[in-house]
Amino acid sequence: MPTIIVDLIPRGRRNRPGYPLNPRYLTIHDTANTGTGAGAKAHALYLKGDSAASIPASWHFTVDDTFIVQHLPLDENGWHAGDGKEGPGNRTSIGIEICENRDGIRAEAEKRAAWLTAKLLRDFSLKPVQVKQHHHWSGKNCPRVLRGRPGGWDSFLEAVRLQLPSSGITPLAGKAAVTAAQAQEWARKRQAHPRFIEIAPVYWSCGARTGLRPEVLYAQSAKETAFGRYGGAVKASQNNWAGIKVEQAVGDSTADFETFVSPEEGVRGHFNHMCAYVGLKPVGEPHGRYRVVLAQPWAGQVCFVEELGGRWAVDADYGFSIVRDYLNGLLATLPPLADEPPPEPPMTPPGELPEKPAPLPEPDPPGVPEPEPGTPEKPEPGEGASPGTRLFERLLYCIYSLLKGMTARLERKVLKAPERGGNGCDKRRSEAPGGRS
Ligand SMILES: [Zn+2]
Repeated sequence: MPTIIVDLIPRGRRNRPGYPLNPRYLTIHDTANTGTGAGAKAHALYLKGDSAASIPASWHFTVDDTFIVQHLPLDENGWHAGDGKEGPGNRTSIGIEICENRDGIRAEAEKRAAWLTAKLLRDFSLKPVQVKQHHHWSGKNCPRVLRGRPGGWDSFLEAVRLQLPSSGITPLAGKAAVTAAQAQEWARKRQAHPRFIEIAPVYWSCGARTGLRPEVLYAQSAKETAFGRYGGAVKASQNNWAGIKVEQAVGDSTADFETFVSPEEGVRGHFNHMCAYVGLKPVGEPHGRYRVVLAQPWAGQVCFVEELGGRWAVDADYGFSIVRDYLNGLLATLPPLADEPPPEPPMTPPGELPEKPAPLPEPDPPGVPEPEPGTPEKPEPGEGASPGTRLFERLLYCIYSLLKGMTARLERKVLKAPERGGNGCDKRRSEAPGGRS
């Protein structure tokens, strides 16, 4: 979640007129300043200086690739829309400037601007149609970068829409649909760091204590930590499984991220943080950033993984990516066959197998493993074996077991079916404890 730095133009300045504002629109601008260093903080300085006051010029937010700085209270107007003292742009809209400084990453600045726009739409109960270009009020070619890029404005609005409610389907709260052992199997297949594999049972115990789905948070942690390998601003020694910031974070450096005393405490912090989003009770004393989340207007109302985009992280695709790139694969992972080593696969190459097993003698032998009713259909991108291949492997195993059972029938030897963890019927259940969602 980006941090907004409040650095207001002092009262009494000519560019802080102080007319009451009841925001009905958001007006998007580009700064038209490509100078090195012309980021959000530099614009905050500019707005407090004499040249901006003499125009007079002012707006509410400037957004660069790292910072969002607020220059005016949201119940006071600014002079940014070019439509005059009584113009609806100046008097009924919040002005947002997106930086163009050549030493900044423009795409990141736009992501943060989309995050801010979505946040303001939610905070003021506005609709995407109430997001306007500066051009709408005065005819000026602004925001010039978004207007000049083919599809630029539409894709910006789409990034905003993705962060608005009711675009989610994957619940955050609910019972575990898979076991920790399945999660560990999945993590192993994805070449996770041992620390990520070892911590899985702690996720499952925290899930049972909070009512959050452990597989969802474990999948999120896989995304946040690159399966425990880390490698970004957050260091492994911080025991921070989910990119949780400190209470007074100002940016995205290592010091801006919380350090937990142990890996287990880090998991507790992860669950507590999500509890603030979903509206569940935390376990023990929460960390500092927990209170920052509670102060958000949407705190306690986030029900779906897809709604995390723009909230937990700037990227609108964040929650969708957790589901698409991680959770679906985790849910599709079968439990390890721990009790008995898997039998040698039949020597016949798959392509030469008969389509149907040989005719069965009557009656059916006991203990034939059932096909897997709970096997999810969703493939996992990037996974070595395709779901079809894995299903086929299971089928081969079933056929093999069947034949083995028949062979052993005279001895009445019962093949032990592989133990199933979890309850397939629980997968994708939508009800959350306490009637949330
Ligand atoms: Zn403008």
